[in-house]
Amino acid sequence: MTLPAPSSLPWQRATLERALALKTAGRLPHAILLADAGQRDIGDFVMQLVMLLLCDAPAGLEPCGGCEACRLLLAGTYADFGLVTLEVDEKSKKQSKNIKVEQVRELIHDLGLTRRYARLKVAAIYPAESLSRAGANALLKTLEEPAPGTLLLLVTHNAGRVPITLRSRCQCWNLRRPRPDEALAWLAERGLEADIATRYLDFARGDPVVAVELEAGDFAGLVGEFKHNFGRFIRGDVGVVGLCRTLLAQDADAVRRLLDLTLRAYCFRASGLDAGGGALAGADPANARELLRLQQRAGPRLQVDENNLDFQLQLEDVLISLKQIVTRRAS
Ligand SMILES: [Zn+2]
Repeated sequence: MTLPAPSSLPWQRATLERALALKTAGRLPHAILLADAGQRDIGDFVMQLVMLLLCDAPAGLEPCGGCEACRLLLAGTYADFGLVTLEVDEKSKKQSKNIKVEQVRELIHDLGLTRRYARLKVAAIYPAESLSRAGANALLKTLEEPAPGTLLLLVTHNAGRVPITLRSRCQCWNLRRPRPDEALAWLAERGLEADIATRYLDFARGDPVVAVELEAGDFAGLVGEFKHNFGRFIRGDVGVVGLCRTLLAQDADAVRRLLDLTLRAYCFRASGLDAGGGALAGADPANARELLRLQQRAGPRLQVDENNLDFQLQLEDVLISLKQIVTRRAS
């Protein structure tokens, strides 16, 4: 592991400051549920937070990198820190669907052991919404009777899916999302012109870090290409299989994003509103309701394994449903 990047994301600083202030005052709770509304992996941020809490001599919000805790954490050998996350199968390279009870039991066992160092003992679970039911149950007792000097961090992208029995025993912290002006300023610092930044921020659903990644991969080019192919599909010049073939040549995340973007655009148009809440002509409430239902359904359905035939079938099904809705009035 490398030293976590400096806290270059201004909107995350408040959480680090809060944690550091509580540590300094000796008032850290036994358990924190850290909720992030985004979907981007925040494993690096979790490590930054843990290092900051364990470092003997942080400079502001930066861990020093040289003290015993920093050195051992960087080497992955700090005995008083445990992270439980989704396992990846060595052979198939597939990520497990949930965090297993055995993993949780091991973590609880380690938390109960005598501390090796004089610092806090920290255990983190991420993504906490993926805890199996048995795993969540196993955690309950630890949350009810925490060992002194321990901190349990439950990190989640979907706090609503973490059992209420766990949530109610944690201090709940929301990782703040960047405001649009903050995100645009951050993108400007990275050299993105305002109109490009605005466009990519929309592609990235407001996450400027994702916007930078998409811009580097010329996502706008993909959008243009997809619009062209999708238009041919709507007019009947190409069938669903042909359209899917062009899509499946892309990375699955890009495909999901393209579909989400298209569905959102149709939802706005049918609801008679633009993304800023302004009125558009041609509202069609019945279509808007159907499109919204399709959009809500499409997200989870396209989360299937992308190397699976099922991904193609789900994709075809969503595209056919979309075509049926948008061409109904025209025919
Ligand atoms: Zn340090």
